[in-house]
Amino acid sequence: MQRPYYYLGDFLREHFGCRVIKIPVHAGFDCPNRDGLVGRDGCIFCCNSSFSLALREPLKPVPDQIRAARAAVKGSARHKFLVYFQSFTNTYAPVARLRTLYDAALAEPDVVGLCIATRPDCVPEPVVDMLADYARRWHLWLELGLQSAHDRTLAAINRGHTRADFEEAVARCRDRGFYVCAHVILGLPGEGRREMLETADFLSSQAVQGVKIHHLQIIEGTPLAAMYRRGQAKPLELEQYPQLVCDFLERLRPDIIIHRLLGDALEDDQLLAPRWEAGKSQIVAAIEQEMANRIRCRVSAGEGRCVAWGS
Ligand code: SF4
Repeated sequence: MQRPYYYLGDFLREHFGCRVIKIPVHAGFDCPNRDGLVGRDGCIFCCNSSFSLALREPLKPVPDQIRAARAAVKGSARHKFLVYFQSFTNTYAPVARLRTLYDAALAEPDVVGLCIATRPDCVPEPVVDMLADYARRWHLWLELGLQSAHDRTLAAINRGHTRADFEEAVARCRDRGFYVCAHVILGLPGEGRREMLETADFLSSQAVQGVKIHHLQIIEGTPLAAMYRRGQAKPLELEQYPQLVCDFLERLRPDIIIHRLLGDALEDDQLLAPRWEAGKSQIVAAIEQEMANRIRCRVSAGEGRCVAWGS
């Protein structure tokens, strides 16, 4: 069945003619919002080890991480791979150091490119020039954390950058030959449906080719967990999530490639809330069902209720 949105996996299959799998790696970067350059406390939700098993072990060389991940993929010889520099701020180092790390990843067999996650205030011109150079030979995504288009929210979650920083970063990256994906979080404190959908409108106005959607996940030990216990943060309900995501998707430009539809914290002791009683694949299926219902409803106007959960 064709998905009712433009999914990254489908885009990559069109591009490479085979399945392309992202391999997340931890390359030992820090973050300026944690080491004191921008701030010391980090974003209120930040806990990289909640989604990265690599961070729970001693740091291994990037090629070793890639080989271990490949060995765990069934039928890996049939696939291609994108190495995903995921943890912390993966452009936060001198260009020469970045090149050493990226080159080591690209030297591995069947690696066709990179996905590089970073902050909007960490892509100065020399980094953009370097990325443009890689993009001549490799498939390249720059993943920029925005989280919300509202400066009030960005201040409240202690992002340490503004919406204008994001706009400037996207403008620097425009037409440089690589793709830009924005990360957003739905359900941030102080935001309702209106604010979240305004973020979708904002992203549609920007030169981004991809969006990665997360739901707010509250991790033990973070400032957000303390807010949650004081009743100052409330996770989204499972029942509302498919409709909210569909509302968000409907506001995005249809050419925007969707990298993810919900957060990826590991379902273990670190995850405080939400503890949804549905697995990731069930939630994705519910979102896709809701989208398909909406499309059907638009085709035959007024028929049926457009809901995914219950009746
Ligand atoms: S920018 Fe990323 S790594 Fe840095 S504190 Fe925020 S969430 Fe954590």
